[in-house]
Amino acid sequence: MRHGPIPGARGRVRPLTLLGDPILHQACEDVTGHGPELAALVEDLFATMYAARGVGLAANQIGEPVRVFVYDCPDDEDVRHLGHVVNPSLVQADGVVVRGPEGCLSLPGLEAGTERFDHAVVEGFTVAGEPVTVHGTGFFARCLQHEMDHLDGRVYADRVRGWRRRRLMRQVARASWSR
Ligand SMILES: [Zn+2]
Repeated sequence: MRHGPIPGARGRVRPLTLLGDPILHQACEDVTGHGPELAALVEDLFATMYAARGVGLAANQIGEPVRVFVYDCPDDEDVRHLGHVVNPSLVQADGVVVRGPEGCLSLPGLEAGTERFDHAVVEGFTVAGEPVTVHGTGFFARCLQHEMDHLDGRVYADRVRGWRRRRLMRQVARASWSR
């Protein structure tokens, strides 16, 4: 039994943008309309995220430089969080800082220990324009901060420091997708 359509069922799987594509390294624009194009974008984000077995995806990862992301992500208690946010703001990021393995569909096959707050709150809107607040802890808080970074033109590699960063950048240089 379910309510409504499965997210992404009507979406199209789109090519992923990869590290080094300028669209990933500049801030996205606010969404201005809540029409069918926005609903179609959210569907495409879900379809692409599921096809790539991700837990979150930002619009600039499929080539659209606007402030929208989707997620289907467990937290540390294995509670599933599923949704989308339009024009999100990170209104809280606090608690302890945890360094944990983090990956990204725009750096396929790689991961690195990345520091994130253990608690995050994002406020924004649904495709219908209704206000929405998303609370995250643990791995889901990490996901929210990761997707917010994308919309601000940052990737997790920008937050990795020291030998972890040097190792990650060596792996990027060797990766087949980076040539
Ligand atoms: Zn990512």
